[in-house]
Amino acid sequence: MSDEARSAAREFRARLDQALAAGRRDFAVARVELDRFERIRDWHGDAVGDAIDVTLTARLVEVSGDPDLITRESDSLRLVVLTADDSDHEALALLAWRLMERMSEPITGITDDSIAVGTTVGIVHPDSLSEPDSTNLMNAATVASHRASIHGSRRIAVFEDLSGLFGHVSELDRSLLSALDDGQVRPWFQPQVRLSDGAVVGAEALARWDHPTLGVVAPSAFVPEAEWSGIIQRVDLAILEQAALTASTWPGDLQVAVNISAANLDNPHLTQRVLAALNEGALTPDRVVIEVTETSLAQDRRAAMSTLAEFRAWGFTASLDDFGAGHAFFDALRDGLFGEVKIDRSILSPHRGESSAFLAAVVDLAKSVGARTVAEGIETAAELQRALDTGCDLGQGYLFARPMPPEVFLEFLRAGDVPAHVDVQGLLDSVQQQGAAWDYSRPRSASE
Ligand code: C2E
Ligand code: MG
Ligand code: MG
Repeated sequence: MSDEARSAAREFRARLDQALAAGRRDFAVARVELDRFERIRDWHGDAVGDAIDVTLTARLVEVSGDPDLITRESDSLRLVVLTADDSDHEALALLAWRLMERMSEPITGITDDSIAVGTTVGIVHPDSLSEPDSTNLMNAATVASHRASIHGSRRIAVFEDLSGLFGHVSELDRSLLSALDDGQVRPWFQPQVRLSDGAVVGAEALARWDHPTLGVVAPSAFVPEAEWSGIIQRVDLAILEQAALTASTWPGDLQVAVNISAANLDNPHLTQRVLAALNEGALTPDRVVIEVTETSLAQDRRAAMSTLAEFRAWGFTASLDDFGAGHAFFDALRDGLFGEVKIDRSILSPHRGESSAFLAAVVDLAKSVGARTVAEGIETAAELQRALDTGCDLGQGYLFARPMPPEVFLEFLRAGDVPAHVDVQGLLDSVQQQGAAWDYSRPRSASE
């Protein structure tokens, strides 16, 4: 930061503190993050970068109504004070949303094409803090904007209340950390079936928290918070370690798939940590599939791509999870960094009588880059038929089996035929069959 920028930032803080000391509560502070603004400079040069900067600054002034009410922390980070008589969530969300939309509008007349700078906004009202001052307001705006950017660009988040947010999150973090130490977080396994012959070729490890008072807790209850706080790395490696240990006891050479949050992908040490978690060679990388979702979580895309390339070089299969449900890692897919594409259930199970054309196109796309395809979330015989018709390689879903604890999965593998397989034709023929073929709560043979 230049001296000039530093002194502007100091003045901005001083004005905020004065307003607060005077008892004013008719404003909110928004933190505006401009998505990959540095790249625009890299691509188009400083002249274009400066011109865009001027336009964006003018937009901020237009929204705030006063150039003294904005400050820049860096090229891509601005703070702005907005008039806000109302401190309720809806009103603040609307303010933030309007700001985000205005900032993200395409900019024309600078280059041949229009340029849009995606923006993320975190907003806070002084009433949300017990003793607001410029520092904790700016911290709270930062917390909100980080929270917003978890879900990608063009998002907003409102900082709620300090005790509530921090209290809740740190409490969850603390108990999750001790649960990890106590071995309460462990993988359950859901089989993956080769559709051509029903062979069980692997299983996905899915985190479950054996909570002492709540019972078995599903990942949706703790993974998003863990991603936000960064504890997800501990969760992912703990699951990987246990999954690798368990998988080394399975008969045959089944693969094990683990989920690694994309929030971890830009960690330059990730590959080494994953290799270490494989327990000194008990399981070789060719038996491990690394599933990744939501690219927007990776702050540094180039680093994420290089981690994917490292995984491939070590012999892991990287799998693009939930493909079709959100942001796709198209560039990495095209570069051949994914050896597997998991097609989201929303594509497999069309509503409103859509044809299978989209599913078929996704399968073709995956095959064109040499990736095998897994149809996720197969629940019905009709979905299984569609997966087969469109040439998906593998299937996973309640129709075959639900996720089950490690000891039950082992029983599943040993029940019936060895190597384990699922009667695909039988499932297709069975008109009644709409539920789980294997319910962990009631062990029975796979072909039953
Ligand atoms: P995912 O990786 O896409 O995993 C598949 C999810 O679909 C699992 O939910 C699974 O139980 C569920 N599922 C399987 N078959 C069917 C079906 O036929 N129908 C429907 N409707 N759902 C089916 P689960 O176990 O609740 O996990 C949810 C998500 O949490 C996972 O989605 C994954 O993104 C995340 N997750 C799970 N374990 C971990 C982990 O160790 N680390 C990280 N970072 N994320 C994890
Ligand atoms: Mg997965
Ligand atoms: Mg998935």
